[in-house]
Amino acid sequence: MTPFTFEMNPARIVFGAGSLSKLGDEIRRLGGQRALVLSTPQQEGQARALAEQLGVLAVGVFAHAAMHTPIDVTTKGMNAFNSLQADCLVALGGGSTIGLGKAIAYRNDAAQIAVPTTYAGSEVTPILGQTEDGIKTTVRHARILPEVVIYDPELTIDLPTDMSVTSGLNAMAHAIEAVYAPERNPVVALMALEGVRALRDALPIIVADPQDRKARSQALYGSWLCGTLLGMMGMSLHHKLCHTLGGSFNLPHAPTHAIVLPHSVSYNAEAAAAELKPLADLFGGNLGVGLHDFAKALGAPLALKDLGLAQEQLDRAADQATQNPYWNPRALERDGIRALLQRAWEGTQPQ
Ligand code: NAD
Repeated sequence: MTPFTFEMNPARIVFGAGSLSKLGDEIRRLGGQRALVLSTPQQEGQARALAEQLGVLAVGVFAHAAMHTPIDVTTKGMNAFNSLQADCLVALGGGSTIGLGKAIAYRNDAAQIAVPTTYAGSEVTPILGQTEDGIKTTVRHARILPEVVIYDPELTIDLPTDMSVTSGLNAMAHAIEAVYAPERNPVVALMALEGVRALRDALPIIVADPQDRKARSQALYGSWLCGTLLGMMGMSLHHKLCHTLGGSFNLPHAPTHAIVLPHSVSYNAEAAAAELKPLADLFGGNLGVGLHDFAKALGAPLALKDLGLAQEQLDRAADQATQNPYWNPRALERDGIRALLQRAWEGTQPQ
């Protein structure tokens, strides 16, 4: 076998329907007594209900999490944490809320319990992307990784179908890029295959019946595996393109991932054919085309133009995506990336 190094991030995972009821025990297990519950304004009601359920273990709710973790929101969150004399954090929500918890913990080393309600995967990574004056920077540090993750599929039942689909495709992107990363290994390949398989099986059922609890469990299980790979492995062209489109053109996170994925996969299909083969087999043999057809059948957005990107912006996006590139199995050719972006903008089948 090819020699390899395997290193996993330490995290305690509590998985299962109804596992949110174990939150109090998990707070105490970490030595916490005064949790600050975090959420977005949209999920404030859920956060307040959770704080009530925690009783004396919760000292308050800070419901101002926002996309891309703006530093001014983090500062206000730190002030709330200090003035309430909190001693740990509970982040209830998607990547935006979990990002806020990470940003606070990065600064004060508070213990974090993440309770994800989307499939984005941030809860199992030591990575924090934050923005100040419109500039996004990324840090990786052990303090950023939440100590405990509670995956309760019941919390995803209300995740709207369109978000379930785009968030699920976002999760798949982590696994797909992990299999061809330079530090790949056989365990990563197994986790990626299982994670993508679980999401492939679950998402069509969720679209047909958002209340299907078995499918909701499968999807959350798949997103855990895929997110874990994002935290362990270096990412390549796909994530670079999405960071460029999100950071410089303000496109929404999950839909951008969903649209770009079939095209970035096709760009790398030949260069990483052996590594991608098991995943391609899940989608009929051609991963790019298979993912495009899968996303289309689920009603996912297919075209960057529908997210508000102007065709005139594609040249700049191609320039930025090929500057300071991440490692990629195929060399990043500016013309090839520009053509990829054109197809993703139009929403045509990848080549
Ligand atoms: P999000 O957290 O921004 O959520 C989008 C909206 O959906 C919010 O209003 C949220 O309150 C709402 N929502 C979430 N779960 C819901 C549910 N179950 N029911 C109803 N509404 C719900 O979206 P996201 O895609 O999870 O996260 C995107 C952000 O996370 C981006 O800023 C991205 O950069 C970051 N992210 C970071 C990492 C990392 O490792 N650092 C990984 C993935 C994503």
